[in-house]
Amino acid sequence: MGQGRTPIDDCWPSPSKWNALNTSVDGQLTYNQPIAKHCYPGSGYDAHLCQDISKEWTESPFQELYPIGYTYPTVDTCPPINASVAAYPLCELGNAPVYTISATKADDVAAGIRFARENNVRLVIKNTGHDIVGRSQGYGSLMIWIKYIRDGLDYQEKYTPSDGSCQSNLTGSAIAVGGGYIWEEVYAFAAKHGRIVVGGDDKTVGSIKVAATAQQATPSAWQQTKSSNTKLCLHRVKCGGGTFGVVVSATIKAHHTHPVLSHTLQLIPLNGSLTQLLNTTTGIMSRYPILSDEVFAGYASVLRADGQVLYEHTFINMIESNSSATIERAKNVINQQVVNNLVRLNTTTFDVKSNFQYFSSFQEYFLGSGSHQAEAASTPIRTSRFFDKKSLLFQQKNPLSMLQTLFSQEGPGVHATTSVLELCLVGGGQVLQPAPHTSVHPAWRRTYLLADQVDFWPENADF
Ligand SMILES: Cc1cc2nc3c(=O)[nH]c(=O)nc-3n(C[C@H](O)[C@H](O)[C@H](O)COP(=O)(O)OP(=O)(O)OC[C@H]3O[C@@H](n4cnc5c(N)ncnc54)[C@H](O)[C@@H]3O)c2cc1C
Repeated sequence: MGQGRTPIDDCWPSPSKWNALNTSVDGQLTYNQPIAKHCYPGSGYDAHLCQDISKEWTESPFQELYPIGYTYPTVDTCPPINASVAAYPLCELGNAPVYTISATKADDVAAGIRFARENNVRLVIKNTGHDIVGRSQGYGSLMIWIKYIRDGLDYQEKYTPSDGSCQSNLTGSAIAVGGGYIWEEVYAFAAKHGRIVVGGDDKTVGSIKVAATAQQATPSAWQQTKSSNTKLCLHRVKCGGGTFGVVVSATIKAHHTHPVLSHTLQLIPLNGSLTQLLNTTTGIMSRYPILSDEVFAGYASVLRADGQVLYEHTFINMIESNSSATIERAKNVINQQVVNNLVRLNTTTFDVKSNFQYFSSFQEYFLGSGSHQAEAASTPIRTSRFFDKKSLLFQQKNPLSMLQTLFSQEGPGVHATTSVLELCLVGGGQVLQPAPHTSVHPAWRRTYLLADQVDFWPENADF
């Protein structure tokens, strides 16, 4: 389809063509307007509305309410500006799509794809707008928004692939997700059946792309992916679902829930010393492969903001049983590998807070442990690295040098106002096992840790 026509081209589809599309999707086509346009002088200016928008701007659920709401837009071309700024910048759609079909059924999706193909208009698929590399945006495009396809969640005690599904040897239970549901909804539904599914930590992320079976809408109609078409299944995961079709329903594997033991740790250097924090963090990172092999997983972060630095983590272990011996054994792993090494530093070098908590199920943990919802933000710059077992266990000099570089504020020019290094202990275990018919990056098969640096820059930073 190429890049397609844009609104400034003479051959951009005429109003009558857009009207016809609107009719074919039962009036669900809208012309997009920047969300914060009410903050700018002109016909839509409304100070009260602007204030409300500004208040909620960094909430992902707020952004998700809008067809062109994005959690981490690469460039924000219409932020809710402070009314006291001397000169108003322009408020533009920027990379956001021009029109949106708020699809409620597969036929709407098919109509959108057909229109884009016949009129050579760039097509974008979006659910929540969390795509960190901006693939649910697209300058001058038509968007198909799948948020309002809600054909229900269906529990299958025993998964039976319907005719024409992607190849799968799954024999346990499964959940069919019929549209634009988010993890929060799918986790709650799974819990009603005593099950869990593998999804994101952030409850506001869309859940439809990890599938044992998927139904995709194509230009002619919707179709179920053919069982012989393994390549299509593979490509859907690899290239972003929207490249080959639009997923309108996906069936995902469900597992029995387990009790959860969580460990939270917070380390704040008493004298604010970044050097001490980074040295100690490197020591903790060297224990990650052992924790992972003992089935702990979760997220840690090193944060520098407002002149303060700290390390914190929440790691969980889905333990086999609720027996006190099992719980004690899991606690011992954390104590021996991490906490005991810090005790001697507590009150002299660091303020150390270490806490275990027991939950009877994954859902109890998920609901009872923090918000599981990251803030939306418009100016982060990110970079990431995989770490294997050897590099964490035996080559501590290298991660330390990386931390020093990431958090260094030396040299001329503008520096990040806030820096967060997310240490995602999400590899190891089954992730190390190769599996057929997936297009997971091969480096994951050696990965224990994904380190993801997020820097926030002042609005006036010169990139
Ligand atoms: C604040 C935040 C927190 C995050 N937390 C986590 C986390 O805890 N764990 C984790 O694994 N990831 C996390 N992510 C990353 C997130 O999982 C990915 O960005 C994911 O691709 C978002 O999917 P989405 O459908 O919600 O977003 P969207 O931006 O709507 O879509 C993402 C991509 O999928 C395509 N797409 C969406 N729906 C369909 C469909 N039905 N058919 C075909 N293509 C489709 C879009 O075109 C786009 O390319 C987070 C991202 C953000 C911004």
